[in-house]
Amino acid sequence: MIDTSSCASNAPENIALSAAQARQRMIAEVTPIVGHEFVPVRSALGRILAADIIAPHDVPAHDNSAMDGYAICFDSLAGDVETRLSVVGTAFAGNAFSGQVGKGQAVRIMTGAVLPAGADTVVVQEVTRVESGAVFIPSGQRHGQNTRRAGEDLARGAVALAAGKRIGPAELGLIASLGIAEVDVKRRLRVAFFSTGDELTSIGNPLAPGEIYDSNRYTLHGLLTRLGADIIDMGVVPDRPEALEATLAEAALVADAIITTGGVSVGEADFIKEILAKLGEVRFWKLNIKPGRPMAFGKVGNAWLFGLPGNPVAVMVSYTQFALDALLRLSGLDPIPERPLLTVEAANPIKKQAGRREYLRGTVAAVDGRWQVKTTGNQGSGVLRSMSEANCFVVLPENCAGIQVGDSVQVQLFEGIF
Ligand code: AMP
Ligand code: MG
Repeated sequence: MIDTSSCASNAPENIALSAAQARQRMIAEVTPIVGHEFVPVRSALGRILAADIIAPHDVPAHDNSAMDGYAICFDSLAGDVETRLSVVGTAFAGNAFSGQVGKGQAVRIMTGAVLPAGADTVVVQEVTRVESGAVFIPSGQRHGQNTRRAGEDLARGAVALAAGKRIGPAELGLIASLGIAEVDVKRRLRVAFFSTGDELTSIGNPLAPGEIYDSNRYTLHGLLTRLGADIIDMGVVPDRPEALEATLAEAALVADAIITTGGVSVGEADFIKEILAKLGEVRFWKLNIKPGRPMAFGKVGNAWLFGLPGNPVAVMVSYTQFALDALLRLSGLDPIPERPLLTVEAANPIKKQAGRREYLRGTVAAVDGRWQVKTTGNQGSGVLRSMSEANCFVVLPENCAGIQVGDSVQVQLFEGIF
């Protein structure tokens, strides 16, 4: 499964990959979990469909009116002059007109009402004139106008939603429109995570000299909760081989994926590499990016391992740019969407070294009607504050050697609409 050709050099930790290569490799290697369960439609929000949803009936189920007006037979119309039709009844949404609309007749009809037999066209009420039981229709109508045909949205038997689709608000409505109450979804992905580092203290304890609070587990809690995973928080693990080995082995028993932070940089804690080599097949990558250059990826037992760097911003970059898509694929999402990059104007100059891809934190805003991005202060890879102030990553490609005010740059927004 894992490309072992790189082992020939006996130095897998030296594999250097571009951001695109790393993402593709990770997506290509993982295979979706197979477990699934039936849940009530509302509980399916955010879940991934395990099987196609087939339309059990046409949507809409009947030909109906798209407007309030008069249902008529188009052949009743005179052509270039006004036509007088006698009004023979009313059709309401949910209360159909049971009779026939003959030539020379019209039925007053409301939006969503079933089109009466004999009618094929609806004339909006605003253009009509009513006089003592008759309606006058001006010329210029089109055959079939203002009607919605049975099966126009979905024909009975068609795939309404394909397996692999994530269920959002529109899908909830669509599933309900088919009268379906229970949905077959993939089980939730189980993701275990822990922080590594002797300097880390958990909140609630005082800080001893040289210690810092562990923030990565909280960021990961947020990221993985948003992903919809079942999360298993395994706490802080000191930089001790036995402790790391025991925690990894335990995590591999319960989780589909394990995320660690810290201890993957060059020269540091080499025992992590030894443990991973002993427990599974893991590659250490040097990614051609900033921040988030070191990363480990592979398998421990049956669990996929994502060894992210320790710096808090690097964690968010490696998670969003690499681990996330592999986790989505593991969850069963299909296809994995490309994250859109939008082109905006740089509001400030940005220094950059050519040769690697950089992710900066920025704020996109409209200035005098033009979309611009401004970077948010200190871009150090440990500075979460500038992450919190940002609403996007500014993504500078490998070949970029710096940005001037007014240059076009690409950004990746943190949030969508829903
Ligand atoms: P490392 O990758 O272990 O060398 O860590 C890189 C930097 O990130 C160091 O300054 C660490 O103190 C810091 N760091 C590592 N893990 C965490 C964590 N869980 N929370 C906050 N900072 C961390
Ligand atoms: Mg460390």
